Amino acid sequence: MADRILLLPDNIANQIAAGEVIQRPASAVKELLENAVDAGATEIRLLVNDAGKALIQVMDNGSGMSETDARMCFERHATSKIKNIDDLFHIRTMGFRGEALASIAAVAQVELRTRKEEAEVGTCIEIENSLVVKQSPVATPVGTSIAMKNLFFNVPARRNFLKSNASELKHIIDEFIRVAMAFPEVFFSLTNNGQEVFHLEAGSLKQRIVQLLGNPYQTKLVAVKEDTDYLNIYGFVGKPDTAKKTRGDQYFFVNSRFIKSPYLNHAVMSAYQDMIGTDAFPMYVLFIDLDPAQVDVNVHPTKQEIKFEDEKIVYAFVQSAIKHALAQFSITPTLDFNLDSSIESLESIQKPFTEERQSAARSSSIFQTFTEANQAHKLGSGGSSSGLRHWSELEKRSQVKVDSWQLAPPSPSAHESDSSTSIGAVFTSLQAAFAVPEHVELTQLFGTYIIVPAATSFLLVHQQSAHERVIYERLAAALDGKPVATQRSLFPSTIDLAPADAVLLADLIPDLQLLGYAIEPFGKTAFVIQGTPADIEVGNERAVLERILEQCKHFSEIKLPRREMLLRSVAAQQSIRPGVSLSDKEMQRLVDDLFRCAVSNTTPSGRPTYVEFKKEALEKMFGR
Ligand code: ADP
Ligand code: MG
Repeated sequence: MADRILLLPDNIANQIAAGEVIQRPASAVKELLENAVDAGATEIRLLVNDAGKALIQVMDNGSGMSETDARMCFERHATSKIKNIDDLFHIRTMGFRGEALASIAAVAQVELRTRKEEAEVGTCIEIENSLVVKQSPVATPVGTSIAMKNLFFNVPARRNFLKSNASELKHIIDEFIRVAMAFPEVFFSLTNNGQEVFHLEAGSLKQRIVQLLGNPYQTKLVAVKEDTDYLNIYGFVGKPDTAKKTRGDQYFFVNSRFIKSPYLNHAVMSAYQDMIGTDAFPMYVLFIDLDPAQVDVNVHPTKQEIKFEDEKIVYAFVQSAIKHALAQFSITPTLDFNLDSSIESLESIQKPFTEERQSAARSSSIFQTFTEANQAHKLGSGGSSSGLRHWSELEKRSQVKVDSWQLAPPSPSAHESDSSTSIGAVFTSLQAAFAVPEHVELTQLFGTYIIVPAATSFLLVHQQSAHERVIYERLAAALDGKPVATQRSLFPSTIDLAPADAVLLADLIPDLQLLGYAIEPFGKTAFVIQGTPADIEVGNERAVLERILEQCKHFSEIKLPRREMLLRSVAAQQSIRPGVSLSDKEMQRLVDDLFRCAVSNTTPSGRPTYVEFKKEALEKMFGR
């Protein structure tokens, strides 16, 4: 029998190996940016076309490469960063595996231009299918530019796996933010299809956070800093009132490397305990620096997972550092209420907020300028002994006001479901048959439910859930060609967003138009809200839009299709909140509308819109 084993040709072996490192345009972006950082660049520019599918180019002013290195760097396992296995445990660079450029060269058409400072001319190299197709001297600035075109041009199966441009661009922005966040002392820019999305001047970490995550954080960051012999931790966490519905703004860096760690995330969450709702995610940007010998970064090809020598110590450390920071700054919600950011730098609030200082604060002129109402609920009577307590109070209040769409639905207690009120069954039977009799008296309960009596049962309708369903179906019809009317604002308001959010919104504008929102781009990250659907209260346009975006981000995290994400977000946002009292007419209309829906028993995300209580079941409860 003939022998069958063949060695794969280099270019095919490289293509296969590339799969581990380069999964999508964003992975290439990460590798190229990290190489530029490793080269000591102080200015790094990223250009992408078609979300990186057509072009990804990174230009840096770093060390550059010699002619020989320029050729060598595309070889597999070619690296200048380690020489032996011991070096792996003293790694201070982002790269060390020597695989990125080899992988990129295997799956794209690459052009490298590079020059070292001492060299008069630079080197230009073109590569296709892992082979050098051209090499020549070139006049080029000191540093390196690597352009990769037509990613996966030679691996059509992988090219077909790429997602929409919007989705790939989102991944690119995520990677860009992770690198740019870790190196605030470096200038970064990101240009997509000729339009500059980020332009980040070098500065402090705090400035970088605000540049990347948005202005609202300007006055909402609490500094974290603790140093020990074993490790140092520094960075910022968001004040509890900035906690969001989405996990988005959470960053851990270990020795400047972005990592994902559910375990350390838990440490942060536990430090916020009682200060934020259980479904809220605090913002954090935390840097942990420790001896590289204490971490293994080589457990994953993209290095996003790492192993600590002693994970428990790191956990305890993170948790206490954050608790400490939050406790020290517990005075700030009061000050933030209507003072500007300059207050943040006052020495007075850098110190622990002792009982003594509380009373001093209360008699200070700053405090006197607050209204009675603010004093009453911000500081509580007599001052709370634990500064942390009023955080949680504050948070609860703001949650009810702002985020009430997230309130849990009335879940039927065990008792109810026992007593033959099997919800599933009821839903299907009601679905077809239930119609609210005319002139029946509807009653609102707790400002949240509507009691709908019928012959042999009554329904408890959740007003917000019901409304969400009604709006959702109306909006779905709008996207299918029955646009919602827009009410033009007399005084259009503008909204300025974090760059990543601006990209998201820009992408949604055409669909939002069909849903009644007229929005126009206005500069790089700003938008003018020209009009909204008629039922949005004047003056609320911005808040509404911000919450729609927040919801969209939440839904895109759970990977909803785009259209569904938008419909659900807008429906959730426009629905009436619990606590809003309804007139008889309004209740009647809501209930009628609900039962005219194609699906009336659940919200778009599957929560019940009503629960039925059968007369029989009630009788059983009373032992009759
Ligand atoms: P690694 O970063 O793991 O060493 P790469 O494949 O990413 O492997 O890069 C290979 C080598 O090419 C690097 O070790 C470095 O010496 C050189 N190199 C890559 N990008 C740059 C750059 N932007 N500037 C200077 N040198 C670079
Ligand atoms: Mg590298």
